[in-house]
Parts: sequence; structure tokens; C-alpha cells
Amino acid sequence: MDFRFNETQRLLKETASQFASEKIPNHVARENDIHERFPLEIVKEMGQLGLFGGPIPSKYGGADLDYISYAIINEEISKACSSVRTVLSVQISLVASTILKWGSEKQKSLYLPKLCSVENFGCFALTEPDAGSDAQQIKTFARKTQNGWILNGNKIWISNGGVADIALVIAQTEKDNPRRMTAFLVETQTDGFSTKDIHGKLGLRSSNTAEIFMENVEIPEDAILGEVGDGFKVAMSALDNGRYSVAAGCLGIAQASLESSVLFSKERHTFGKPIAARQLVQDLIAQMVVDVEASRLLLYKAGEIKNAGKKNTRETSIAKFYCSESALKAANNAIQIHGGMGYSNEYPVERYMRDARIATIYEGTSQIQKLIIAGFETGIRSIS
Ligand SMILES: Cc1cc2nc3c(=O)[nH]c(=O)nc-3n(C[C@H](O)[C@H](O)[C@H](O)COP(=O)(O)OP(=O)(O)OC[C@H]3O[C@@H](n4cnc5c(N)ncnc54)[C@H](O)[C@@H]3O)c2cc1C
Repeated sequence: MDFRFNETQRLLKETASQFASEKIPNHVARENDIHERFPLEIVKEMGQLGLFGGPIPSKYGGADLDYISYAIINEEISKACSSVRTVLSVQISLVASTILKWGSEKQKSLYLPKLCSVENFGCFALTEPDAGSDAQQIKTFARKTQNGWILNGNKIWISNGGVADIALVIAQTEKDNPRRMTAFLVETQTDGFSTKDIHGKLGLRSSNTAEIFMENVEIPEDAILGEVGDGFKVAMSALDNGRYSVAAGCLGIAQASLESSVLFSKERHTFGKPIAARQLVQDLIAQMVVDVEASRLLLYKAGEIKNAGKKNTRETSIAKFYCSESALKAANNAIQIHGGMGYSNEYPVERYMRDARIATIYEGTSQIQKLIIAGFETGIRSIS
């Protein structure tokens, strides 16, 4: 469906789609998936082409894109490979956009051009072994010193964690006040900062996911992002952006599942007819079509609110919840339509399902999204 795109958006869709089919064909995504190979050359090339510029202003090396255009890139890249889309989402939505919103002029000029050109990688480190959905339980602590801060703590499941040059770390800064966290921009070469890659993931296998260990990491005073005590707000604003690109990536998975299913179902014959002519197969396809269209509308609604610069937590949460659950359903239906072949990595649909699976878990599980959405509706927040 062409969603009343303007000329720039239409061209961007073409460019991103062409890049994805030339540089990330199925056999490349499959090999990277099998060998858990980080797609370094692909993301570097995207950086050179400006596909990592996102909504970051051009004066900081960005592409000045509106949020619909940014969603289009995430969708097109995700149709080919969600692991590559993950690098983009983390780098631009979770890290660069958060620096843009909360950073000092010095931080913006120092970090944003390098993130947009993919000269550097960034990661967003909130989750800890004992604190995921309940982020206020994090134990990483930053102690004030005369010249800055000393960080101690562990993070887990951090996308880009093992490749990042700069880590946006959320830490406690007041012993008995977990809401008074603070966000820091930590250069990962600093003494005491180390990482360990996590292997054996179900999906997103060619994205990098790591544990982070911080032992007496000394950071300067100007490493704070925002103000002391702003950390929770900084983290939640990062998630408003991160969830949007996750939703866009999920739309890509659902669309790719649908396209693959339509093609396959017209070619595959049983009992003398293509399976596309079978009503029970058409039922699966119809469900995908409706979910893809609904996902797109919810995503772009959130995008328009972001374009207007308005608060969008509710709409982004709705889009993330719906698009992720729909992508998982669509990929599962696609496997069903492909029959035995769907269970093999000769076709990409099994990877679509494994890659879609995480989207209902990270950046707030589906349960947490429901609590956010119902919290807005009732005015009663069941999570703080
Ligand atoms: C591949 C991958 C990449 C990731 N990337 C990042 C990253 O870049 N940065 C980062 O900081 N984190 C990252 N994460 C972590 C991710 O955000 C967390 O795993 C997620 O928020 C869930 O936290 P948890 O795993 O601790 O589960 P828990 O919070 O322990 O939840 C376990 C289960 O309980 C349910 N639950 C919890 N509380 C409630 C409640 N109040 N009501 C109902 N159900 C509830 C949850 O929905 C879930 O089903 C990543 C994780 C993975 C697997």
C-alpha cells in the first residue's frame, strides 16, 4: 500500500528497499544469522549513504527526516534483516535522539555526527540482571567525587553493548531514592568498563547483545546527560523513540511475511489447485493483510504526533504493542502457509518469526505496554 507518501518519502522508500535487496539479500541475512556475524560492512555503508541520519538535524550530521520517513527506512531494512534494523534503532532512536533531546551543545556536536555516520556505535544500558520491567530496581550506582563520578554495576541484554564506543548508562545516584536516577554518557574505552557478548539468542542473532561490567569507572562531571536526577525521564523518553522504530521494524516483518506468503501460495499446488485458492489459506492471508494495514495506521499515527513534537508515549506504546504482536502472528502464519519449507531456513519466514519474538519482550514487554495503555485510559497507573 502506498500511504499518501510525499515525493521525498517515496524516493526514500525506493532507496532503502533497493539497498536492502542489493546488500542484504536472504542468503546474506541467513549466513549472518547462522554465524551470529555482526553486519559491520552493511551498517557502515548505510552510514555513508545517510540511512543512519534519521530525524537528527543536518547540523549534527543527521538526515533531518520526519518520523514517517524514518519509519519507512526501519520498515524496509527490517523486511530484509531485523538485526540490521536493530543496530539502526539502538543507534539513532535510543542513543542519538536521546542525546539530541537532553544533551549539552558539546555532547551533541561531539557524539551525533559520529553516530549518524556510523563512525562510532552507541548503546543504551538500562536493564540489569535483577531489573528489567521494574527499571527502578537497578543497582548500578554513580558516586560523586570532586572531579566527576565513579560508576559501579552490571548491565545485561544490551544491544550493541559489545561494539559500542559510547554507552548511555542509567544509574542510581541517591541511595534511598530510586526515582532519582541519572543518565551518563560513558566512553567505553574508560578503565574499568568491560563487556561480554551474549551468544545463542533465538533471534536477532546477527545483532550484538552484551553484558556490561563497570568497576570503578571514573567519568567526568560533563558526562551527565540532562541533570542529576533526570535519569528515569531520560530513559523513558529514549523508549518513546526506541519503541517507535521497533514498531516500524515489526511492520517490515509482517509485510515481508505477507509478501512471501502470497508468492508461495500462488506457486504451491495441492489437490490440483494453488494453495492460494484454498479458503483456509486465504483466511491466514486475510488476517495478515488486516494486521499489516492496522499496524501501518497505528505506526503512522504515532509518527504524525512525533512530527508535531507532541507527547506520544500512549500512541507509541499502542503501535509497539500492536505491531510486535501482529508481526509475530504474521510470521507464524507465513510458516504455516509455507508448510515444511517454512520450517527450513531456505525461506526467510522462520527467521522472521524468531526475529519478531523479541519485539514483544524488549523495550517494554507486551504486558508492560498494556499497563501503560490502560494507565492512560483509566488514569490509574499500576506501574510507576
Ligand atoms: C535481544 C535483547 C536485546 C535487548 N536490548 C536491550 C538494550 O539495548 N538495552 C536495555 O536496557 N535492555 C535491553 N534488553 C532487555 C529487555 O528490555 C528486557 O529483557 C525487558 O524489558 C524485560 O525485562 P526482564 O527480561 O527483566 O523481564 P521481567 O521484567 O523480569 O519480566 C518477566 C515477565 O513478567 C512479566 N511482568 C513483569 N512485571 C509485570 C507486571 N507488573 N504485570 C504483568 N506482567 C509483568 C513481563 O511481561 C514478562 O513476561 C534486551 C533484551 C533482549 C533479550
